Amino acid sequence: MPAILDGRKISKDIKGEIAQKVTSIKAEGKRVPHLAIIIVGDDVASHTYVNGKINACKEVGFDFTLMHFASTVSEKKLIKHIEQFNEDEDIDGFIVQIPLPEHISVERITESISPWKDVDGFTNQNFGSIVSRNQRLLPATPFGVMELIRRYEIQTEGKNCVVVGASRIAGAPLSLMLLQDGGATVTVCHKLTENLAGHTKKADILVVAVGKPGLITKEMVKEGAVIIDIGITRVEDTSRKSGFRLVGDVVYDTVAPIAGYITPVPGGVGPMTIVSLLLNTLKAYGVKNA
Ligand code: NAP
Repeated sequence: MPAILDGRKISKDIKGEIAQKVTSIKAEGKRVPHLAIIIVGDDVASHTYVNGKINACKEVGFDFTLMHFASTVSEKKLIKHIEQFNEDEDIDGFIVQIPLPEHISVERITESISPWKDVDGFTNQNFGSIVSRNQRLLPATPFGVMELIRRYEIQTEGKNCVVVGASRIAGAPLSLMLLQDGGATVTVCHKLTENLAGHTKKADILVVAVGKPGLITKEMVKEGAVIIDIGITRVEDTSRKSGFRLVGDVVYDTVAPIAGYITPVPGGVGPMTIVSLLLNTLKAYGVKNA
């Protein structure tokens, strides 16, 4: 049987460590770290993710602010509020939950966030810092994956890592982190990659961040490989009260028995992304209060 990379457990451990720091901050009579979240529209999944982030703030003792806009809000108005958050001394970090309505440019919104408060790690400056000696606020999901790997003491040095999916928030930054911090030999696959299985089968560590359930089957995986499934898709499930369940990109039931380690979905990378947001907020707080 494979070992489970239990993101839920590791994130709980890390939240415990953060809560202790918050207790010390309070004991010194200082204000606690403060995370703000901007959400636009009424997308149910986005609201669920945001609730998870707010609950995490409550668990560790951070202050939080939630600002909700109607989906008709203009880009100009949103940027005005972002600029206010950039200036607000009381807010250490903030995020704008994506996706955004089509009339709003994610690129322009992201770049209007101060890199010092960009706790999602999406801005060009923070993304670029991955390959510098002065890493700043690292992209949250890849940061969470690297922390999960580190806490399970999985060796990355010299290993063949294959990352399927090359998005700006997941695959691309993670491939750079595996190369830069992990010392791995990294192959990045995407929609145009020919013979995907030819690449994935060579992976000692296979990371998948595509959003296509069933993409990775057991024939595409080397025996004993470490499998990290970032994908999260809601699929209909009438047997559940909610009417849906969450699945990754990897066919878990058949891949897990041949894997060395594997992340479940849910309960693998998702909780690590949230805890990375808290770690980045703590870092932003520390920089400001240094
Ligand atoms: P995205 O922006 O749509 O990027 C998907 C990537 O997959 C793109 O690079 C795309 O290639 C590539 N791709 C598409 N079809 C492919 C195929 N058949 N074979 C190989 N590569 C293919 O998505 P994203 O934002 O990165 O999210 C990906 C998944 O991760 C989603 O399910 C999302 O919900 C999940 N996610 C989870 C977390 C978490 O905390 N667990 C965080 C972020 C995202 P091109 O570049 O060529 O288009």
